[in-house]
Amino acid sequence: MTALTDLTIAEARAGLAAGDFTATELTEAHLAAMEARAGLNAYITPTAERALAMAKTSDARIHAGQAGTMEGIPIAMKDLFCTNGVRTTAGSTILGTFVPPYESTVSAKLWDAGAVLLGKANQDEFAMGSSNETSAFGNAVNPWTRAGDPDTTLVPGGSSGGSAAAVAGRIAMAATGTDTGGSIRQPASFCGIVGLKPTYGRCSRWGIVAFASSLDQAGPMARTVTDTAIMMGAMAGHDPQDSTSAPVAVPDFAAAVEQGVKGLKVGIPKEYRPEQGLSPEIDAIWAQGMAMLRDAGAETVDISLPHTKYALPTYYIIAPAEASSNLARYDGVRYGLRVLEEGDSLNDMYCKTRAAGFGAEVKRRILIGTYALSAGYYDAYYLKAQKVRTLIAQDFKAAFDGGVDVILTPTTPSAAFPIGAEIDDPVTMYLNDVFTVPTSLAGLPGLSVPVALTSEGLPQGLQLIGRPFDEETVLRAGRALEKAAGFTAKPRLLEG
Ligand code: GLN
Repeated sequence: MTALTDLTIAEARAGLAAGDFTATELTEAHLAAMEARAGLNAYITPTAERALAMAKTSDARIHAGQAGTMEGIPIAMKDLFCTNGVRTTAGSTILGTFVPPYESTVSAKLWDAGAVLLGKANQDEFAMGSSNETSAFGNAVNPWTRAGDPDTTLVPGGSSGGSAAAVAGRIAMAATGTDTGGSIRQPASFCGIVGLKPTYGRCSRWGIVAFASSLDQAGPMARTVTDTAIMMGAMAGHDPQDSTSAPVAVPDFAAAVEQGVKGLKVGIPKEYRPEQGLSPEIDAIWAQGMAMLRDAGAETVDISLPHTKYALPTYYIIAPAEASSNLARYDGVRYGLRVLEEGDSLNDMYCKTRAAGFGAEVKRRILIGTYALSAGYYDAYYLKAQKVRTLIAQDFKAAFDGGVDVILTPTTPSAAFPIGAEIDDPVTMYLNDVFTVPTSLAGLPGLSVPVALTSEGLPQGLQLIGRPFDEETVLRAGRALEKAAGFTAKPRLLEG
């Protein structure tokens, strides 16, 4: 029999319903694996006791015929989601002891659907980063290593790096992530799992620690497209508490998955080619993806998204600008850390608290954002960036208006890299998101699906981008890729 920690959500649901095992057994198996693989540092705060209590409730609900869509499924929750009574750090020292008295809408929906909380997943500080190395709690580790090089530890990607490492390392059946510029899709690609950034507004942001409010979006990370669709259904929906959450119906994502891609038009944007630094190897994997979709009955068409090259610089004005405003609330008065010494003025307290509480990357973003929003530079940087953002969104709209149903690109310009390799070079680190950021600026859904192993033996994902609120087509196309790719490789850590 497949180990309990190797099951997909769909398989686990069937096994639970058939009485092959209990939710408690499923949770216990994951808790044991979490201990065995604690070296992945995927969790900032494991919640074993709560997990067992939740599993017990799930067993009772299953017994009573009241199982929800995620009943008894053990998951990791990115530490950006506020969880009532469970420490929520956002990967930062400044929130290192913060225990929220409320629950985020998305996590509350998952508990209502029956999911079990294994723990709070590691992440880059305030979701700023692409390697999980900016976490104040040490970096999470990618369970994958290069073929023949088991000693070089690789990053899991970021910012949802703990979530991705946990799902790939079989110490969570699925996980939540958040994606502002790529933080679900890039770590999914680096760890060989599936990750979906939904349309902006599809999931409530209420109770999620804010990074850049016009970009942040919660989404599921799992090992199959079907599992991703199942979890998406439990997370999505309008929330009156978030004025940017969209009052649109939640479709049956899981039902859409098997509809195939016959007759779909798949756009291939020419701007995602080598001048962006794409290696010939990843270009070849992209071409394989195109062929897989064609073989499944889709048509590929060349398209142009002419403003793509401005996306990264635009993002690095808008996201830090919003972050500098959002992070002003960490002032030592209301949340978390306070550094106050005898004789200090209020201003001294602000400065000392923020100096001690924030890491280097967060400080860099606050400085850039404050600069871009300052009176003398607002028009030159922030306003200009907003205009370019509109042009980027119009590029996508023109492609979809032109008849394209979905767009296929690589998720990342490279596979996972060694810990320490990029952390001292912010611009190189920022380039990780060159293919994911345009989608975020346009607010569109983006899915990363693992398609192949590189010559180094590392997973590489391809990204599918859809129309606003058309996650269904994205998931359908993702399932077609998944079927054709037959990506069954497991991290070497789990071999033998
Ligand atoms: N890596 C990007 C950044 O550092 C995106 C992060 C995210 O999506 N949260 O801003």
